[in-house]
Amino acid sequence: MIDDLPIREDLKGKTPYGAPQIDVPVRLNTNENSYALPDEVVEAIGKAVQAELRDLNRYPDRNAVALRTDLADYLGHGLTVANVWAANGSNEVQQQLLQTFGGPGRTALGFGPSYSMHPLLAQGTGTRWVGALRDPDFGINPDKAAEEIRRHDPDVVFLCSPNNPTGTALDPEVITAVLGAAKGIVLVDEAYFEFARPGTPSALTLLGRHRRLVVTRTMSKAFGFAGGRLGYFAADPDVVDAVQLVRLPYHLSSLTQAAARAALAQRTALLATVDAIKQQRDRIVSTLRERGLRVADSDANFVLFEVGGDQKGDQKDQKEVWQRMLDRGVLIRDVGLQGWLRVTAGTPAETDAFLEAMA
Ligand SMILES: *Cc1c(COP(=O)(O)O)cnc(C)c1O
Repeated sequence: MIDDLPIREDLKGKTPYGAPQIDVPVRLNTNENSYALPDEVVEAIGKAVQAELRDLNRYPDRNAVALRTDLADYLGHGLTVANVWAANGSNEVQQQLLQTFGGPGRTALGFGPSYSMHPLLAQGTGTRWVGALRDPDFGINPDKAAEEIRRHDPDVVFLCSPNNPTGTALDPEVITAVLGAAKGIVLVDEAYFEFARPGTPSALTLLGRHRRLVVTRTMSKAFGFAGGRLGYFAADPDVVDAVQLVRLPYHLSSLTQAAARAALAQRTALLATVDAIKQQRDRIVSTLRERGLRVADSDANFVLFEVGGDQKGDQKDQKEVWQRMLDRGVLIRDVGLQGWLRVTAGTPAETDAFLEAMA
């Protein structure tokens, strides 16, 4: 019971983020990379962290210049350290962006169903949230999106591509239409970009022409670095400068910076799992479709599928299916979308267990 504490009025009665962390054999609910880090990467990160230990009496580089330089190098597209900012997960960079460009009296708009943290970050920063809707096929129509934005005139627009929980990648045409209509910041969350099917363009290609565009990325998914907590964004250097107004000094520990740099240097070994994961994703999509289920196309490392048969009226309650899967030792995700569930693509053995339990 926290409501009798003197908490902010706008937080009373709200619920925190809470994907269940349950210790079962098959955990396919938070889109982590299922593969443990390879030995050579473990060794490299260990050495890098070890080298920092004697200097833990000192604050880290609060500008994380070396790490940001490495991240810019990884992204390519002619980006430099001045274009990139990093923090403890892309959730933190998005919070910093809302602290800078949103806040009390301001509005953020997103197109649901999408990542549940976007409205929660708005809530935490006192930013009013406007929930616009995706089309029934989970895409976004550029004209309708532009109209919504003109109607609400948000200070920050959230786009997510490939979108969590649907897996849908956005056409750059949509992003351009949104940029044309929006007066505020347009944030494109590309947490799953590394899993996109070949030919899917990144919003990074639009950066040079749009000063209010921000593209966020993370090492939590493709890099298998969820526990390391490293997210970042790329934008105009002025956006990076603006965010300095709200970032905490020394927010990124020297251990995090060193570990992330070592992981980036080992990216060939770390990203080697991406192709295998994409194969499992495609296998989940095709097998569930063969079984007559409706499944969303996915450019991410997860699949959104409708439970029950393909006949109308046969739609099962997703909560019941979720529980029955958990009873069989397979943890998947109920994202609160009536009739749908999401499963992460992991190892072939995990896919076997998932498909068997689903059968
Ligand atoms: C998992 C996820 C993130 C990653 O958050 P981190 O804080 O970087 O771990 C960001 N955006 C979306 C849409 C996600 O699904």
